[in-house]
Amino acid sequence: MTKNEMVQVTIEDIGNDGEGIGKVDGYTLFIKDAIVGDVVEAKIIKPKKNYAYARVEKILEPSPYRIEPRCSYHRQCGGCQIQALDYKKQLEFKQNKVRNNLIRIGKFQESEIDGVMEPILGMEEPYHYRNKAQFPFGTDKDGNIITGFYAGRTHSIIPNTDCCLGDAQNEEILQCMLSYMKENGVTAYDEESGKGLVRHALIRIGHQTREVMVCLVINGRKIPASDKLIEKLCKLKGMTSISYSVNTEKTNVIMGNEIHTLWGKDYITDYIGEIQFQISPLSFYQVNSVQTEKLYGLALEYAGLTGRETVWDLYCGIGTISLFLSQKAKQVYGVEIVPQAIEDAENNAKLNGITNAEFYVGKAEEVLPQKYKEQGAHADVIVVDPPRKGCDEQCLQTMLRMKPEKIVYVSCDSATLARDLAILCEKDYKLERVRAVDQFGHTVHCEVCVELCQK
Ligand code: SAH
Repeated sequence: MTKNEMVQVTIEDIGNDGEGIGKVDGYTLFIKDAIVGDVVEAKIIKPKKNYAYARVEKILEPSPYRIEPRCSYHRQCGGCQIQALDYKKQLEFKQNKVRNNLIRIGKFQESEIDGVMEPILGMEEPYHYRNKAQFPFGTDKDGNIITGFYAGRTHSIIPNTDCCLGDAQNEEILQCMLSYMKENGVTAYDEESGKGLVRHALIRIGHQTREVMVCLVINGRKIPASDKLIEKLCKLKGMTSISYSVNTEKTNVIMGNEIHTLWGKDYITDYIGEIQFQISPLSFYQVNSVQTEKLYGLALEYAGLTGRETVWDLYCGIGTISLFLSQKAKQVYGVEIVPQAIEDAENNAKLNGITNAEFYVGKAEEVLPQKYKEQGAHADVIVVDPPRKGCDEQCLQTMLRMKPEKIVYVSCDSATLARDLAILCEKDYKLERVRAVDQFGHTVHCEVCVELCQK
């Protein structure tokens, strides 16, 4: 195949990043925005030896799984990869992706996986589910201040204040921000020159409480005319916390480490199940509250607690899983790298009158081995919920040495999950149950909960 060549192709499969996969004369094509079942006319963009990347030029026959996407920017925006795919089919894709990774990367037998894997838990309402969004600010060609989302794989901003995965209230908050900036001559940050003030707005809205947090990330140390900003924002329904974060670095990291509260509280409050949580701007908090309750319910079920167990919850964030488990355990220990999150975790324990949960700041791969070697720390159950990169090898080896009866692994990336499970299941542990939970409808991501038992 040569660049710019046009081909007609039937899409037979979905790739890991949501792209359509089809074959022409045994040559594999990866085609963004093509849906499994489509027949498309595609243009070859990047030809390689045995495969090529191509672009949809025309849909000749639409797939029965193709639906009309709600968002008109879904093709440009980097947020949703599979919004045009029927939601049921999205779930099937995610179930298969997890299964395939466990087989391909984890080297588990197909029959073993099929014996333990339960059907994915999907959402009832796969829109407007996100309780958090981070909107970049910039300036368009005509000098107007804009906010929205980054186009896929770039940092150019598509102006859109009305994302259909986010909370409907985001729109009025962003309009307030834009008008405050225009009226007071406040500039937007420009990545190239490193000049300009406002980089991002972080918005969080409590799912049950409807408390609203706005945190501006600025390339400077002060918000000009902050009284004008407060005046506008604090009129909005549910406004609870207005703050700013200082980030003067030339970096892709969104938040700076310093947070200053301008108005209201330093945090918002929300519930997962019966448990109340205080959430600060820098704390990790699951973005889909409805599905999180299902995910933690599953982790609790898989942990099989009776009230006598000592549980370690590694990568505990603000203690969400720890506090959920503490209701049914003798003692829970949480470990987390972000100090502010541990402060929140401790407050959250107090807030809920929970006295059997203790938290440590540090890397799981350092704190756990240290507690085990120096104090002979014991665990009946170990729960891990690491970021996408998975667990550190040192952490996994210590878990194996501690010989807990059960390990519950909560993962947001089934590839690193499969890699880590291969290590855990090499000798002493076996897969007992696996279940995916869809926290991120219209994207290619999902969460997975796994129960491991001693052989
Ligand atoms: N269990 C929590 C948080 C999960 S997200 C919840 O469901 O809300 C993963 C967490 O791991 C984040 O809070 C992140 O700050 C933390 N983290 C990242 N690397 C870590 C490490 N090496 N050791 C401990 N915590 C880490």
